[in-house]
Amino acid sequence: MGRLEGMALEPLVDGHGRRIADLRVSVTDRCNFRCQYCMPAEGLPWLERDEVLHFEEIERIVRLLAAMGVGDVRLTGGEPLVRREFPRLVAMLAPLADDLSVTTNGYLLERDAEALVRAGVNRFNVSIDSLQRDRFFEMTRRDALPRVLRGLEVLAGFPEAHPIKVNAVAMRGFTEDEVLPFARFAREHPYEVRFIEFMPLDADHAWTPDSVLTGDEVRALIEEHFPLAATPREPHATARVYRFADGRGSIGFINPVSEPFCGDCNRIRLTADGKLRTCLFSLNETDLRGPMRAGATDADLEHIVREAVWRKELKHHVNEPGFIQPARSMSAIGG
Ligand code: SAM
Repeated sequence: MGRLEGMALEPLVDGHGRRIADLRVSVTDRCNFRCQYCMPAEGLPWLERDEVLHFEEIERIVRLLAAMGVGDVRLTGGEPLVRREFPRLVAMLAPLADDLSVTTNGYLLERDAEALVRAGVNRFNVSIDSLQRDRFFEMTRRDALPRVLRGLEVLAGFPEAHPIKVNAVAMRGFTEDEVLPFARFAREHPYEVRFIEFMPLDADHAWTPDSVLTGDEVRALIEEHFPLAATPREPHATARVYRFADGRGSIGFINPVSEPFCGDCNRIRLTADGKLRTCLFSLNETDLRGPMRAGATDADLEHIVREAVWRKELKHHVNEPGFIQPARSMSAIGG
């Protein structure tokens, strides 16, 4: 898999010698949740329909990148499951990717899990920030926890979708009370819970360094009750994974703020409107939609992609004075 029609191009590398192998594709900027750390309560001005890449355009870019060795493809948004005919897009991309995953808030999983697994998704990340209904509502501005948990259960019924990851954003003043319920959840279910440090990608610009509950702080709270044992970090991994010392499940920490993992970052992103981003925190992006719609050949596109990737940022500057938050929020970038 991964190389259609036997086409193989030179690997895609950046100017710091990192080989790019992972693509995050935002399939829509729209979302049915309004999470505090991402979107304003009233939503954002959505892209016009024609601004959003068509399935064939996404497929073309994925195919080109696959030929350059980008085999890991994650579909995200916005909320990917709100994109009409999303399983059809999955079926188009599955033959091109070595690993095809989806990040979702889970609201539509009850409806779509089976179609997505059948279409070729082999890994899922489901975002859940609280296991208490009222606090879930407070964070997402949607009273949807029971429905999300039902979706997760439906998904768990497909062994080919395991292991399932459950991601919780860690925010000071909120997540401390969630830590133990999530630790128990990870011990009692076939889910790997991962805490993601709150990043300055919120549309409300409410992020401050102090609002981040760090992975180390979360881990200390867990270890008061359940001892943990570190597992070796996989190359290019975003998460530091720990096993519960008694062997009952594992838990992960994604610490982009307190422990950046830019050094071996192999990821690039494609926004729903066809812009290539080489870092979550990029201040520049490279348009692929315009050239594609103006008749660019694959060789033209390859050249544009290689030029952009060559300039991939060495690291983010979140912890430095003068850090500038990108104009787009996480939902518009594709987290
Ligand atoms: N709607 C899908 C979902 O909820 O998983 C996919 C898109 S969402 C933008 C992807 C992930 O980004 C979610 O796990 C979400 O919690 C996370 N996220 C959004 N804003 C964030 C922020 N400011 N800091 C850290 N994680 C964030």
